[in-house]
Amino acid sequence: MKLKSLVFSISVILLSGCGLAKEKQKYNADVIVNNGQVLTINSTMQIIDDGVVVIKDDQIIALGTVELLNQYQAPKMIDAKDGIVMPGMINAHNHLPMIAFRGLGEEGISNRLFAYFFPLESEMLSRELIYNATKLGTIDLAQSGVTTYADMYYHMDEMAKATKEVGLRAVLGETVIKFPVVDAKQPYGGIEYAKGFIEEYQNDPLITPAYAPHAVYTVSKEKLQEINKLSESYDVPVLIHVAEFPNEETRIKDPTQAKSPVEYLDEIGVLDERVVIAHGIHLSEHDQVLLKEADAGISYNPMANAKGATGIAPAWDMYRADMRIGLGTDGPMSSNQVDLWRTLSYAANMQRLKNSDRTIMVPEQVIEMATIGGAKALHMENELGSLEVGKKADIIIVETQSANMMPNYDPYATLVYQANPSNVDTTIVNGEVIMENRKMLTVTLDDIRDSVEQFESNIATFAKELSKKAIKSKSLMD
Ligand SMILES: [Zn+2]
Repeated sequence: MKLKSLVFSISVILLSGCGLAKEKQKYNADVIVNNGQVLTINSTMQIIDDGVVVIKDDQIIALGTVELLNQYQAPKMIDAKDGIVMPGMINAHNHLPMIAFRGLGEEGISNRLFAYFFPLESEMLSRELIYNATKLGTIDLAQSGVTTYADMYYHMDEMAKATKEVGLRAVLGETVIKFPVVDAKQPYGGIEYAKGFIEEYQNDPLITPAYAPHAVYTVSKEKLQEINKLSESYDVPVLIHVAEFPNEETRIKDPTQAKSPVEYLDEIGVLDERVVIAHGIHLSEHDQVLLKEADAGISYNPMANAKGATGIAPAWDMYRADMRIGLGTDGPMSSNQVDLWRTLSYAANMQRLKNSDRTIMVPEQVIEMATIGGAKALHMENELGSLEVGKKADIIIVETQSANMMPNYDPYATLVYQANPSNVDTTIVNGEVIMENRKMLTVTLDDIRDSVEQFESNIATFAKELSKKAIKSKSLMD
């Protein structure tokens, strides 16, 4: 009996000893996402069923099958069962604080930019409104699976503050324009404003500061050249609207102007790898060659372009030419959505209509454009846009158990043609879980509800009067 008991005891010690040794061999991580269908969006578009994504600090440190759970442990385990795990989407063009004006000026105003947007902003914008509206906008983005957005607006320090509080990543371009605006009393005052902003946020983990000259027709040649030099010395992006309107070249009041806005940018020496153009609708083949040679990024904004009746960008041609093309929504007055879900199907369908070809822009290519494509457009593909070891942990989990997500034969098709923002279950940015089970863990809607109601009531009366005037204004597109 004694011997048996001794053997048993030794066995228990050895077994538990082995267990301890095995436990000790596990590497410590911070968060592990397991059980989901992982769309890596890597160069082979690998899909890992029942995949595991291991996060430490702000990075993905391991990615693979369930065996990884023998190697890593983390205090935070997220069960993504029946979910699609994918890179957070990248909205490559927005004016997020205009969410304060979302739903206004929808009465069919022809000259909407000059007769409605600019006067509305001139009267209503303030530092406080930009901060509060950015909070609403970034909550909307986080809840709908966008983890990075690029923006052109004013008081970018306020946008940066609000964005960081919610926990999103952003490329924030301080607007430069030829007339006085909310944060610059002098024309082109944004150039000076941007200096302080860029110096403050140059090394921020979430915010990439940038210049945002509004367009070739609202910023002079000299100022575009000055911005180009400054962007080079600070090594920051330049975000600009280009070829949005069919007659845009006639708006450039410069005797040296070339045939198209892209040729003009090239001719005056400002088209380079730091440039990200928004829209790029009316582009000739030569324009596309110039953009590719410059290694510039492009934000294709199909839903906003359809709503604004500005045209269909040659996005399929640029995608096939391996150019840096991502997806954007434009501002919340232009597409009314800040997330990319509806934009995904527009992105495909508009190209199919334009090219009379139902075989192009298949869902896998659309999801590629919304993730790694956006990262490429912003020149951030080494850090963002796919789930790969060494990249930033910007990850979303999309559930597939709601009626609209069933059946789910092809995850790419399900995402592009079935999903909506409410299917996003969990959002992780820079390794931080900012939404889980649809519950915001940083800033909630309840935190900002009062300020949203306040700005809504402040804006409503003025906006209504402005609509009456704007509707009589002549179109610039005629
Ligand atoms: Zn825009």
